[in-house]
Amino acid sequence: MGQKVYINGEYFDKKDAKISVFDHGLLYGDGVFEGIRSYKRLVFKLKEHIDRLYESAHGIMLKINISKDEMTKAVIDTLKLNEMDDAYIRLITTRGIGDLGLDPRKCKDASIIIITDKIQLYPEKLYREGLKLITVPTPRNIPEALNPQIKSMNYLNNILAKIEAINVGYEEALMFTASGYVAECTGDNIFVVKGNSLITPPAYLGILKGITRAAVMDIGKGMGIDVKEEVLTRHNLYTSDECFLTGTAAEIVPVISIEKRVVGTGRPGRITLELMKEFRKLTKKDGVKY
Ligand code: PMP
Repeated sequence: MGQKVYINGEYFDKKDAKISVFDHGLLYGDGVFEGIRSYKRLVFKLKEHIDRLYESAHGIMLKINISKDEMTKAVIDTLKLNEMDDAYIRLITTRGIGDLGLDPRKCKDASIIIITDKIQLYPEKLYREGLKLITVPTPRNIPEALNPQIKSMNYLNNILAKIEAINVGYEEALMFTASGYVAECTGDNIFVVKGNSLITPPAYLGILKGITRAAVMDIGKGMGIDVKEEVLTRHNLYTSDECFLTGTAAEIVPVISIEKRVVGTGRPGRITLELMKEFRKLTKKDGVKY
């Protein structure tokens, strides 16, 4: 059996899994989404992802016409059907089919799409040796215009930053807020270690409140580390002992330099490696079984 994709309560073969060109998700990026992982038939932080999906939807006044329980079941059913032990799950809700105008009132029903697939963002080597980051000119969207806490289908802000990094030979871009504070990377949150403190920017600055970020903060606290959400400047990055990124797809990625300025020893840091180990353990035991 080939891969099946869920669209509005029905399953389609990958090649037939299509949506209308009049869907406002396509026309305007009008929709919200989640990226979720399962490890050995355990879905990691499923409740948190479903909650964030509905919060994002609420943020754009998008009514999802199935309940959170039904959505959870749909995700689990799709994983079971596709017999995937380890998966990357893309859960999407769009404004649905309307006309060529912007007016969301013309879209009667939100579309729901669930794709279960695989993902590997970075090669294995990078997790051992660390990632080199570059900061880019494009600021993260200002929260007053489009709050990055809404995980919207419009990722152009992030894609433009990614292009800037790629253009100068880097894989990942670090974005600042419009006021010049450290925000996040194009698809990951950022942490620094300074002494026995683990510091990450607060969500109110205008970043996605990552679910991996929250998990890592909890792990850190459990290890007796002083975990803080604090505004960070470029200087704080340059003078940090360790730095790493977090995200569902990337998990925890050590950062060893920021625009050629070496972070710490230039190797993945001790606390970073410890957190990576503990995170792996958590993904093996914590999750919704299917
Ligand atoms: N920031 C951005 C912009 C993201 O797109 C993501 C998710 N890929 C993250 C942070 C990390 O969030 P999470 O840990 O919930 O995947």
